[in-house]
Amino acid sequence: PSLVPAAAAPSNIIRKKLMGYVGFANLPNQVHRKSVRKGFQFTCMVVGESGLGKSTLINTLFNTTLYPPKEQLPPSAERSKTVAIESIGADIEENGVRLHLTVVDTPGFGDFVNNDDRRTASTGIKIVDNRVHACLYFIQPTGHSLKQIDIEFMRRLHTKVNLIPIIAKADTLTDEEVAEFKQRILADIAHHNIHIFQAPTYDNEDEETLAEAEEIASKIPFAVVGSDKIVATPDGRQVRGRAYPWGVVEVDNEDHCDFVKLRQMLVRTYMEELREYTNDVLYENWRTEKLLSMGVAQDSTPPRRLQEERILHEAKLAKMEAEMKMVFQQKVQEKESKLKQSEEELYARHKEMKDALEKQRSELEDKKRRIESGRPLTPEKASTGRKKGFLRT
Ligand code: GDP
Repeated sequence: PSLVPAAAAPSNIIRKKLMGYVGFANLPNQVHRKSVRKGFQFTCMVVGESGLGKSTLINTLFNTTLYPPKEQLPPSAERSKTVAIESIGADIEENGVRLHLTVVDTPGFGDFVNNDDRRTASTGIKIVDNRVHACLYFIQPTGHSLKQIDIEFMRRLHTKVNLIPIIAKADTLTDEEVAEFKQRILADIAHHNIHIFQAPTYDNEDEETLAEAEEIASKIPFAVVGSDKIVATPDGRQVRGRAYPWGVVEVDNEDHCDFVKLRQMLVRTYMEELREYTNDVLYENWRTEKLLSMGVAQDSTPPRRLQEERILHEAKLAKMEAEMKMVFQQKVQEKESKLKQSEEELYARHKEMKDALEKQRSELEDKKRRIESGRPLTPEKASTGRKKGFLRT
């Protein structure tokens, strides 16, 4: 967004012809080299009930066993069925290009992408960026329409993450069922104003690219089939697919399912767009919202932005300080009440001892007076009196 002002002032730009080769035509190559060296990072979230084929599809998409086959896991380590957020990462490489892939598996709802990692990423404290670039939402192949829980989930997340709805295990539905199911899902999505990720199209794009984007868009929600097994087709080809008594469903065959188009959207053509949209739009929206909720107006100029990040950071520090103060005060109060209690105890003991001494003193004084006045002592006092008298003579 901060690049917009420069582009919006074309009147200042004078087009000049170069007298010779300068070399900035090599910029794309520089960018290419740098990104190959650094590698890429992509975080994908998969959501849906367990058993919908999420891990199988991720393995199929990246052609790797990111998720180990369940039968290889010891019973105790069996992948949870699950409600907890689970994250799995892998470095994969293709033709010298490295991709650090993180898959976040969560059947739960929520504010997950609002998590603290984002906040810390924005304050620059944490280096690893945990922004989720795409969310694959697995829809159960019921053939009916979206469930309430699906709608609820999408409504909570569509402004925060690139949402990609997919129909899981599409091989369990016929072609007509898939087509009707898609229509109903799209109608539900439109009815609830849910924004799903669309391949972006730019005015200066060539026809082929536009046609490709349209083709991809026409398949949403992608009806997919996943399989990490190679099976033989009746005509003798080895394909990734699922073998049934009546035939083979091929993962990579566009007549059989939309897997190829999904992969194109997620990996081959629009991965960078997904990343960019996450950082430039979704993340910025989230940040603006956060700042507005803290009473800070948004401005897109860079120094201001740093200032805002500082404000966010300071707010966090202030919160921590307040919490610490509270704990401190609590401790002081505890200590004070303990001291007060022991002071009271001490005072009570002191008073007791003083009273006892006072009593003793008055008794002795009384005795002294009797002796001095020559009065006889009471029988119990007489023995000591007589003794004393005897000693004196
Ligand atoms: P997860 O719990 O969502 O990760 O599901 P899994 O990937 O573990 O798959 C659960 C079961 O569904 C396994 O037996 C898979 O072989 C099977 N499965 C996965 N993908 C498909 C699919 O596209 N079609 C069909 N029919 N079965 C699938």
